[in-house]
Amino acid sequence: MPFLIALDEGTTSARAIIYNERGEALAVDSAPVESHYPHSGWVEQDPEQIWQAQIESARRALAKAGITAKDLAGAGITNQRETTIVWDRHSGKAVAPAIVWQCRRTAAWCQELAKSHGEEITERTGLIVDAYFSASKIRWILENVPGVRERAEAGDLLFGNVDTWLIWKLTGGAVHVTDVSNASRTMLYNIETGAWDDTLLKIFDVPRAMLPKIVRSSEIVGSCVSGHLGAAVPIAGIAGDQQAALFGQACFRPGLSKNTYGTGCFALMHTGAHRPVSKNRLLATRAAQVSDPQFAVEGAIFVAGAAVQWLRDKLGIIQTAGESEALAESVPNTNGVYMVPAFVGLGAPHWDSEARGVLTGLTGATTRAHIARATLESIAYQTRELISAMEADSGEALAELRVDGGATCNNFLMQFQADILGRRIVRPADIETTALGAAYLAGLATGVWSGSEEVEHFWRIDRAFEPKMSADQRESLWHGWQTAIRKCRA
Ligand code: ADP
Repeated sequence: MPFLIALDEGTTSARAIIYNERGEALAVDSAPVESHYPHSGWVEQDPEQIWQAQIESARRALAKAGITAKDLAGAGITNQRETTIVWDRHSGKAVAPAIVWQCRRTAAWCQELAKSHGEEITERTGLIVDAYFSASKIRWILENVPGVRERAEAGDLLFGNVDTWLIWKLTGGAVHVTDVSNASRTMLYNIETGAWDDTLLKIFDVPRAMLPKIVRSSEIVGSCVSGHLGAAVPIAGIAGDQQAALFGQACFRPGLSKNTYGTGCFALMHTGAHRPVSKNRLLATRAAQVSDPQFAVEGAIFVAGAAVQWLRDKLGIIQTAGESEALAESVPNTNGVYMVPAFVGLGAPHWDSEARGVLTGLTGATTRAHIARATLESIAYQTRELISAMEADSGEALAELRVDGGATCNNFLMQFQADILGRRIVRPADIETTALGAAYLAGLATGVWSGSEEVEHFWRIDRAFEPKMSADQRESLWHGWQTAIRKCRA
């Protein structure tokens, strides 16, 4: 019986999950990955620790499942996106710590760049110029680590996001590749042509010799050196975490979409074989690619589950995130209270870094239950803003929204999401969709599954939430939210 392993390297931990040929998870293991904050706004990780955490969790997951690497048909890799690593191709040593996607060290430079080249870069990449993406991080390493630029020009240094780094390690330095979904987050990749773009390489001053070969998300790119896991396991799937989650939600066709409710939210809508151009300041991206190129639009909410953590850690009105559900349901509504958790500004579609959070509509009758309810509702309202922008871009209404991430276990939130969106919310049986997507990609490339139809066949729903609220009530609440947003941007 063939098994698959998904290596899911996230921002806070590296996880490994073993799946059987019905796509069922059999064993999970994880190891923490530390972030370091050497200056205000800087975020770094140790590339060696990322590798060790990943390989050790993979070995333990195999042991927990009671199988060996010889039983694996293939490995799929999914990763925190944009995080930038530069290493020496001869020694295998990184020349600097990994610069994590959250790191803001290049923000000022990017602001200037946005003024001079913003439109041109968006036209080529589908992205909005920001320190978040890899290109300015690579440039920072080349400019600031002594001697590095010369070595990069001479072809001695390699760049990779975390997918590329792990594959290079797994193959003993034999394979230097990335997939289209990760490439499309670097800001060096032309989303239209599907290749590294000379104009962008020039703008960011990055030598082409450093860049990995771009491959599809589902193909065998090489094999693990047997010493690592105990057999030469084919590496057969690669996708950045959000695109892997879209795939793991079986969103294989245009119009299908998912929202991940974690610390923040990430919503992606599959838009088919043509490059989307957003009129509502969403990002265009490559979706995971099995055969022909596929595209998606993406929007992010910075503070979602993190607002629930704030209720717990800063206000102390709940002891656990899970308690927020019963507390919110202890009142019939928020009694006019709105909470906008713009703690770090607002993301899509507002893109307002100056906005700050507001709590409005308070009266002497406001209780902690109203505040907890308003906080959960804010996650659903922000999601409606993203989904409305996606629908406006695509000209089509969503049939349903598939959901995953830690906060989806909150049934109040899911029902309110269905109500305020006026759309069906679908929660799958396996909400580890990121790892599942990587396993699907690897299983398709190695012939464990014949095609996406077969995968769709065993993809399972846990629960669907149908909208129950009247249209009048929905629009009246929505109007109140828009007023609160205006206050927070004032
Ligand atoms: P991440 O991958 O971003 O770390 P997770 O998917 O693990 O996030 O989800 C954790 C987030 O979900 C936390 O911000 C937490 O506050 C929130 N969360 C967890 N359980 C609940 C719940 N029952 N209700 C609301 N929010 C929750």
